[in-house]
Amino acid sequence: MRSLRATLTLWYTVALAATVLAFGVAITLIERGSNFRELESRLRASVREVERVLADGYRGGGRLVEHSNDPLTYTLRADLYRLLDPVAGWVIVVDSAGHGVYGSAEVRRLTPQAADSLRGRVFVTRPDLPFETYTLRLDGTPVRFVAVDVSSAGPDIAAVAVGEPVLDAEDAPRRLITSLLLISPLILLFGAGVGYVLSSRALQPVRAMIDELEAITDGRSLHRRLPVAGGAEPNELGRLANAINAVLARLETSFSAMRRFVADASHELKTPLTVMRAGVERALTDPRSPPEVMVPLEETLQEIQRTAEVVDTLLTLARVDEGRMDLARAPVELAGVLSEVFETAQILGEEAGVSVHLELPEEPVVVDADAARMHQLVMNLVTNAVKYTPRGGSVWISLTATAGSATIAVRDTGIGIAPGDIARVFDRFWRADMARSRTGERPGIGLGLSISKWIAEAHGGSIGVTSRPGRGSTFTVTLPRTPTTLPVTDS
Ligand code: ADP
Repeated sequence: MRSLRATLTLWYTVALAATVLAFGVAITLIERGSNFRELESRLRASVREVERVLADGYRGGGRLVEHSNDPLTYTLRADLYRLLDPVAGWVIVVDSAGHGVYGSAEVRRLTPQAADSLRGRVFVTRPDLPFETYTLRLDGTPVRFVAVDVSSAGPDIAAVAVGEPVLDAEDAPRRLITSLLLISPLILLFGAGVGYVLSSRALQPVRAMIDELEAITDGRSLHRRLPVAGGAEPNELGRLANAINAVLARLETSFSAMRRFVADASHELKTPLTVMRAGVERALTDPRSPPEVMVPLEETLQEIQRTAEVVDTLLTLARVDEGRMDLARAPVELAGVLSEVFETAQILGEEAGVSVHLELPEEPVVVDADAARMHQLVMNLVTNAVKYTPRGGSVWISLTATAGSATIAVRDTGIGIAPGDIARVFDRFWRADMARSRTGERPGIGLGLSISKWIAEAHGGSIGVTSRPGRGSTFTVTLPRTPTTLPVTDS
């Protein structure tokens, strides 16, 4: 997925490229237009000049042309040649029969075909115009001409045309385009850089908002709100923040209503469950109870116990979510906690045909913790290890420590967890095999590990798991050892 910043940078660069291109084209067209206008006004001046020389010559000395039938023989009077040759450009003068009577050096150099096509065009075809302007390609060179009919130079002279190659007029724009093309990579690079910086700056508030939202959406910080950019008159981002805040407020209300409901419901269920349990236990121990009700009563007691555990767990999580779960922290010797869990685990293991082992270090490992919660944490892991290990397997409970941390590991040779499921085992109500009955071979509701995770994190520690399907799993809990809990050593 492309980031918004990259997209904005790309669009910025494309926009800049389009602007540079449009600018280049506009400048070129303007430059070309003005060059052509200048060229034409120069040509008109030259035409007038030629016309003036011819008219003066006619007034001063009669006939201007010696007769010749060869259309390519320029036969203007020799003294006029001297006057006309200094006129810049491609100059041609024709008589009424279309014969060229004078051609400047460039015109005289033309091939006969080119000279013919030029002579054919000298006469003005639109008498309503004072000048006629056109471009002719003569021997490969495009030449712009201004032509005019001449009546002031006697019967021998009919029309005059003066031209200049347009290459000169197009040269400057072409140079401009070339320079633009040459520097365009630099412009684009610069544009991309500026675009990147600008979009980064523009998106900075959005990134801050995302960070803030990510911190909020852990579920326990729904009371927090996003800062509103722009204050009383919010801009677009401020309005977005306002909208998100409104959603957060609604979420907070429904979340707390849900938590309160779970907490209240669990709380309300506790007493009847205790009463039911006591009743069933009494019936089980009453010698007057008929033997055929014993099995159903045992099953009922088991179900009541299981339900009581679920209710207890839900109550714990509801309290955790409401932030009402305080830890009674005190220095706890972890080996003691693990030994207690080990005793229960041995009984569980015996029933399940799984051997359970305990590995403790020589020295005591003391952490600042809530002993009951620690017990619950390790018990959850060990119960799972036994539950998810087939008959004949083994479970190891171990404790190791460094100066800064204590590590509890629960390893089993059980069914393991698929790599894709590892990330989800600590989610609430998640079970690898959701389809399997919650009460069947491996009963459970998928809350044990989420509670274990909360306990580890509430102690400033962490919990993790490595596993290979079919080979077993290792759950590792790392707890920090605060300096006060370090064993005092004499130095
Ligand atoms: P529960 O055991 O009640 O289902 P947990 O939260 O304790 O709930 O565990 C969640 C899921 O993680 C279990 O359903 C199981 O699929 C998987 N799991 C936990 N521990 C182990 C283990 N030691 N080996 C294999 N899978 C495990």
